[in-house]
Amino acid sequence: MKAIRIHAHGGVEQLRLDELEAPKLGPHQLLVEVKAAALNRLDIFVRTGIPGVPLPVIMGADAAGVVREIGSQVTRFKPGDRVLGQPGAGCGLCQQCKDGRENYCLKYGIAGEHFDGYQAELIALDEEVALPMPTRISFEEGAAIPLVYLTAWEMLVNKARVKPGDTVLVIAASSGVGSAAVEIAKLYGARVIATAGTAKLEKCWLGHLAGQLALACQGRAVDSLRQHQRSRSKVRFAVPVSAAAIGDRFHDGTPWRSAACLEACRGRKIARHCRQSVSL
Ligand SMILES: [Zn+2]
Repeated sequence: MKAIRIHAHGGVEQLRLDELEAPKLGPHQLLVEVKAAALNRLDIFVRTGIPGVPLPVIMGADAAGVVREIGSQVTRFKPGDRVLGQPGAGCGLCQQCKDGRENYCLKYGIAGEHFDGYQAELIALDEEVALPMPTRISFEEGAAIPLVYLTAWEMLVNKARVKPGDTVLVIAASSGVGSAAVEIAKLYGARVIATAGTAKLEKCWLGHLAGQLALACQGRAVDSLRQHQRSRSKVRFAVPVSAAAIGDRFHDGTPWRSAACLEACRGRKIARHCRQSVSL
């Protein structure tokens, strides 16, 4: 089978289309023919040199495909099923894993970063990290879901405990995590303020986020928030979803974590992508 791997960190020239043997199937695993795999910003971090990547590694944290074979102990899937692969895995043994908080497991890892990922023709997917995928969703749409929705859900639901009546500022709302954050915040009855660049904002406004936003702001997130706070009710917390997008806007070198959150969060503690904590 073919798979996209890196053998060393660096630019796009490090991406190799390698010919590998098909993965061996464990008793609790599915052999999945990958139909679509996502490209996340994480893939760029991994390629350029995030610490702790075992090389060589198959890239990719998200995939959607069709089950071709099942292990002897698999009970929830059969060949022919459409599935998504979610990227996170804990040890399965510690208390955090047993409590369903495997992202706090000391051995927690992400596909394509800590172990082989999903940008391959065939992957062996643990049954417990596979999700059935409805036929109304295309493979490309399905592959775009897992990593960004898990990240946004952890921030908004598990950490910030979003609830009806909250106002949520989503910075870089046109990003994968940002658009997921908008939808999850609306699901929980929150009021959403979104910021994005002008062209992206128009796409959000006219596209699938239309009607979900209370306010959409162009350009500088903190400036937009200050303006909003002068004119309307207090914003309770923000979701900084993209360090790169925010970093571009703080030319004085102010760390985005303190700048964006001290302005917006009002004492809440939230986390962002890549598991960095935000303490206020
Ligand atoms: Zn564990």
